[in-house]
Amino acid sequence: MAQQLDPATREALIERVRFYRDLGLTEFYRRPVDRALLAAEPIQLPDDQLVGQGFIPGNNPADRMGASAPEAVATQDILLPSEDIQPSSQETSTIAPRKPIFTPPQPPAITPAADRAAALQLIRDDIGDCTRCALHKGRNKIVFADGPPDARLMFVGEGPGADEDAQGIPFVGKAGQLLNNMIVAMGLQRDQVYIANVVKCRPPGNRTPEPEEGNTCSPFLFRQIDVVRPQVIVALGATAATYLLGQRQPLAGLRGRVHAWRGSQLIVTYHPAYLLRDPRQKKEAWADLQIAMRELGLKSPAKS
Ligand code: URA
Repeated sequence: MAQQLDPATREALIERVRFYRDLGLTEFYRRPVDRALLAAEPIQLPDDQLVGQGFIPGNNPADRMGASAPEAVATQDILLPSEDIQPSSQETSTIAPRKPIFTPPQPPAITPAADRAAALQLIRDDIGDCTRCALHKGRNKIVFADGPPDARLMFVGEGPGADEDAQGIPFVGKAGQLLNNMIVAMGLQRDQVYIANVVKCRPPGNRTPEPEEGNTCSPFLFRQIDVVRPQVIVALGATAATYLLGQRQPLAGLRGRVHAWRGSQLIVTYHPAYLLRDPRQKKEAWADLQIAMRELGLKSPAKS
C-alpha cells in the first residue's frame, strides 16, 4: 500500500513541485524507494556539516572564491540503473499549478499526404447536416471546400454567395471568376489550390457573418487548414483575416507582409468582390499575391 506522507512533508513537496513548474520544469522522475533506507534511523549531521554542503544557508566555505572544489563523488554510488527510473508523466498529477502556465501555441502534427482526403472527409462528416447556427435556415448547400488535400496554397474567403450556395462549391460566381484569374496570374491552375470560407453556409443577402456564426463555424476551417497544412494561406478580405489572426484590425495594417500562422505563412489581401467594386486596388492585391509567390518560389508566367 502506498505510504502516506505527513502533511508538512506533503506541503513542502507540493511547494517544491510548484517551484519547478514555475521554472518551466515539468518532467520529473521517481526513483524506486529503498525500503531499508526508509526504515533506517535518519542520520543526524552536525549543523556545520549541513552548512558546508549548502543545505543550510550560511558561511559556506565551498562558495567562497578560491575555495577548493569539493571532492568528486563516485557516480556509480549515486546513479541508479536507467530501467529503475520511471517518468512521472505517466501518472496523473493532482497538484494544481499556482498560476496559469503559458504554453505557446504549437503547430499541429502534420497529417501524412495519403491520409488527408480521409481526414477532410471526417471533418465534413462532423459538420453533417449542420444546424449549429442560424445560417442553416436559409442555406441550400453547405459549401465545404474545393481543391486538393495536399495543396501548397490555400485561399480563405468569407462565406458562400448565391452561386456557391446553389452549387455547393466556393468561389464559383463573379468573385470566383476574378479569383480564378488571380490564380492563373500566379502561374497556377485553380485545381492546384485549396479554397474554403470562414462560414460554410450563405449569410442572408451576402451580409458579413455575425460573430456567433463565424465563431461556430471557423473551428471547422481551422481543422481543414491543420489537415491540408498549406505552406501559404491567402486571407481574402477582412473577415478571413480577422478569424484567422484572431484580431480585428484594418486590412491596411495586415497587408503587405507575412504572418506566421500555425505552421503556415499567412498573407492578407483584398476580397475579390471588393476588387470588382474598386478595380483600382487590383495593383495592391497583385503586390500581396507576389509576396505569396515569393514564399512559394513561384515566378510570374511569361506574358504572351
Ligand atoms: N465570397 C466568399 O467569400 N466566398 C465564396 O465562396 C464566394 C464569394
